[in-house]
Amino acid sequence: MLDLFNALPEMILLLDDQFRVTWFDRLMRHSFGWKRKKTLGKPLDQLYPFSEVDLPLGRDGNAPICLHMRSGAIRCFHVELISYRNKQKIVRLSEPGQQLKPETQQREFVANASHELRTPLAILGGYLEQISVDDHATVWSRPLEVMTLQKERMQQIIDDMLQLSGLEQAGERVRQETVDVPELLDECLQTHAILAKKRDQKLTLKLDRQLLLRGSTQMLRSAFSNLIINAVKYTQKGGAITVRWEQDGAVAQLSVQDNGPGIPKAAQKRLTERFYRVDKGRSREMGGTGLGLSIVQGVLQAHGTLLEIESGKGSGSCFYAQFPANLLLSRG
Ligand code: ADP
Repeated sequence: MLDLFNALPEMILLLDDQFRVTWFDRLMRHSFGWKRKKTLGKPLDQLYPFSEVDLPLGRDGNAPICLHMRSGAIRCFHVELISYRNKQKIVRLSEPGQQLKPETQQREFVANASHELRTPLAILGGYLEQISVDDHATVWSRPLEVMTLQKERMQQIIDDMLQLSGLEQAGERVRQETVDVPELLDECLQTHAILAKKRDQKLTLKLDRQLLLRGSTQMLRSAFSNLIINAVKYTQKGGAITVRWEQDGAVAQLSVQDNGPGIPKAAQKRLTERFYRVDKGRSREMGGTGLGLSIVQGVLQAHGTLLEIESGKGSGSCFYAQFPANLLLSRG
């Protein structure tokens, strides 16, 4: 149990019913230079640096305190007192900025940075739109075109990053609405039909129109749309794409199958990593961000399932997911 406390990022100590120290963790030892012999059994408010501050020992709860560390620095903490068995008290010191785990801090940083980048980019985009090529010599027409394209790319990356961080924050709290999957897939297909037509591809839907799902329409729209646009983008001109939504025993399966170039086995494991692309050049050329399948995986996880891939170099790809029986609904 005490070993467990040692593994925590906060400083922890234990007091008896007279507020005498009976145990303290490694972080305390390092931070305050405490020795066991000189410390154990002493009242906490007589031990430096706690002797310098007002400790709210009498009651459970939270209070801020600033302490002198062995290094000479002063650091501020939240001190929390928690009653433990036989009138003992657990004292927990945590630093406000340190409360979040590193990965949580990193996620928050990405979310905040993406959010902050949106405004300057929107302003740049606004000016770019106003600069009409007609007003300028033709030498500017190509740079303006490139700048607009790059602005759109940055916009897409920021939107995708924000969507990903939204997914992480949503965690388990997925909206529980009735999702009309066949209607949603019709809509996704219509959205991407223009590009598919340009690429002379055949898009086919095979849907069980009675089969609905419990979850978030908005999230699932984004996931299905990403899978379909990928099939269109990465399948050669004249290729064929089939989207299926059907019951398979107790579960429901969504699949997007194409007869495109396929994905080598080694790359398949990495597809849902952020910014991972099998063919970087092709992805950029098609306006990809490398975040699409991470978003798909996030959405599917929030709906109790995972993205699966059947593919091989040269033999097309099938991206699919099986939704659990407890999320299935039927029309009417
Ligand atoms: P991107 O924005 O680059 O499309 P994704 O995360 O959606 O990013 O996909 C990651 C990579 O997986 C793509 O860059 C592409 O190399 C590969 N990929 C995704 N879908 C397919 C597909 N249907 N066929 C072949 N490769 C694909």
